[in-house]
Amino acid sequence: MYLSNYFLPVLKDNPSEAQIKSHQLMLRVGMIKQSSAGIYSWLPMGFKIMKKIENIVRQEQDKIGAQELLMPTIQSAEIWKESGRYNDYGEEMLRIKDRQGREMLYGPTNEELVTEIFRSSIKSYKSLPQMLYHIQLKFRDEVRPRFGIMRCREFLMKDAYSFDLSDEDALLSYNKMFLAYLKTFNRLGISAIPMAADTGPIGGNLSHEFVILAETGESKIYADKRIFDLTTEKYLLTKESLKNMRLDYEKYYAVTDDKYNEKDFEKNVEKNNRLITKGIEVGHIFYFGDKYSKPLKGSVALQDGKKVDVKMGSYGIGVSRLVGAIIEAKFKDNIMKWPLSVSPFDIAILPMINKNDNTNMIKAKKIYDELKKNNIDVILDDTDENISSKIKKFNLIGVPYQVILGKKSEGDLLEFQETYKETKNLSLKDIIKIILTEKNLI
Ligand code: ATP
Ligand code: MG
Repeated sequence: MYLSNYFLPVLKDNPSEAQIKSHQLMLRVGMIKQSSAGIYSWLPMGFKIMKKIENIVRQEQDKIGAQELLMPTIQSAEIWKESGRYNDYGEEMLRIKDRQGREMLYGPTNEELVTEIFRSSIKSYKSLPQMLYHIQLKFRDEVRPRFGIMRCREFLMKDAYSFDLSDEDALLSYNKMFLAYLKTFNRLGISAIPMAADTGPIGGNLSHEFVILAETGESKIYADKRIFDLTTEKYLLTKESLKNMRLDYEKYYAVTDDKYNEKDFEKNVEKNNRLITKGIEVGHIFYFGDKYSKPLKGSVALQDGKKVDVKMGSYGIGVSRLVGAIIEAKFKDNIMKWPLSVSPFDIAILPMINKNDNTNMIKAKKIYDELKKNNIDVILDDTDENISSKIKKFNLIGVPYQVILGKKSEGDLLEFQETYKETKNLSLKDIIKIILTEKNLI
């Protein structure tokens, strides 16, 4: 992509309406545009990043055997009346009437709809377990939409639902999802801590929030720092291994304000290991047994013909919120660095332009073609801005690698910059190797 052809409406200054870094930056570099309160359009660069996040989320869901479907955004009020949530959900739910006067709504979540799909197709215990998910827009008429896409009204969520025969099987599904979440956030370059949480309006008896640390987060968190030393490599998708995973994670105290208790915190966490900070919730998982299957008659027949209500869990990830959350976690000193796994481009070529001499531009185009040939996603800043503005702009955009064709690039040795590091002089071959190696690790 040549910058002159790219739809990237970068602003000179930070927009005054934005209070937090991610919101400022997303508006400034033209990733999103507000269309009305809490409702945003995703412009090409923002959308590209969100799609990359979505794909990683999808791959990790598929790996644990969850199956993707797509449910509509507009739902009938009928099933919500059956579950009893039509009245309970309150004003966050956007209620609509169609031309026939039928009550409809814009889905804030999908427990009812997915149970309705399940009950009309699955009749026997032989078809269990099932795990279904979709990645779809949701609408919640939040009282105070704020912080851009972090707390907005229309947002993209991955929501998965598990159906099992017994509590024990359901726990296995829950634990699989728990591991998939840890792996997903890892690949996104952030460490999200699972925290015991209240179940809130979804209800039920087991729940974890996945929270990343960030000063601008809305949740206050209390944790044992040692939880950050855990890694996921050793866990397999077996009952035993997943049980151990939960035990390993739950050894360490980690809760948000609603579950916080000073005495417990002080008793369980040594002074040196205590961490009190703020965080952003990027995912939330629930086990709620037959809370929805009972009223909605989501049951299966056992071998002897007897019917049992299936045990369900639901599992959300804020796909669009993650775009902002990654920025909040990564931004420092006015410089942004996207993890290569979700970066809008792998590398930028920034040539210094001299009016009477087009050598740099010719060289830049050659490098561009060579990178493209190696399947590296490259953007070339072919505008006639001066080199320091180009560097500043790409520091703000957060492309993790840059080739700067200025005074320091000599012949085949190119000035190469990896964000937050000193520049180096490297051959194009070496640069390609560095990027391909890192891409292969993702
Ligand atoms: P919160 O406490 O932040 O309102 P929630 O508990 O209502 O979240 P869930 O219903 O579990 O959220 O939704 C799953 C995920 O969807 C959340 O973990 C979050 O990442 C994302 N999410 C929820 N509400 C919003 C919103 N208004 N804007 C953007 N993302 C959201
Ligand atoms: Mg909410």
